[in-house]
Amino acid sequence: MKPDVEIYDTTLRDGTQGEGINFSVADKLRIAERLDAFGVHYIEGGWPGSNPKDIEFFDQAKRRKFKHARLAAFGSTRRKGVPVEQDEQVRLLVEAATPEHIDALRAHVAAEQSALKQGDVADRSELLGDFHVRMAQLIGNDVLAEVLRDLLARCAIATLVYQSSSAAHDSAAEHAALVECFATGNVAQAVRLMREHLDHVEAGLNLDQPGPSDDLKTALARA
Ligand SMILES: [Zn+2]
Repeated sequence: MKPDVEIYDTTLRDGTQGEGINFSVADKLRIAERLDAFGVHYIEGGWPGSNPKDIEFFDQAKRRKFKHARLAAFGSTRRKGVPVEQDEQVRLLVEAATPEHIDALRAHVAAEQSALKQGDVADRSELLGDFHVRMAQLIGNDVLAEVLRDLLARCAIATLVYQSSSAAHDSAAEHAALVECFATGNVAQAVRLMREHLDHVEAGLNLDQPGPSDDLKTALARA
């Protein structure tokens, strides 16, 4: 059973900012191992864009197997005035993606594909939207994940009604291609695929087909 409370530990980032605190990479790895043994669910390892030590930490930590914990990175989504594909911090953030992140996204895409195969429209719509929330969660951007979740809840009915199954198939295939891009750390390609993907999703909505009545009186009269 999923625990009711999940612990997100920021000792290795916020915790390093106190006066007189200065962890080496080896210190950080040892602390991460102890946090994992303690049963913490998420360990925020640092900010790969802020200093070489945090880059080195992620480089070493992602090759280790943690029993409970998932590794998360702190980061800013993008810098003002810089296109996201040229943003150095976004590149470092993508490079911090651990094999666990990639495995979790691959498993999600596999679930999308099985919902498509079974022709389950409700399931496939939920999973296709949730992919974007999962990406935000996995890079540790909880604020973005919340905003996306809220936005998806608002457009769930539109997707259910107007997205054709062929457009849903294309979406799942594009998600799979995106995950492989993250796996190889190809930021420019990932940004390009994501832009194309969002354009396809928009173009794939068949707004000409008759949707539910937008006349509240008629809708209520039918009920
Ligand atoms: Zn998508």
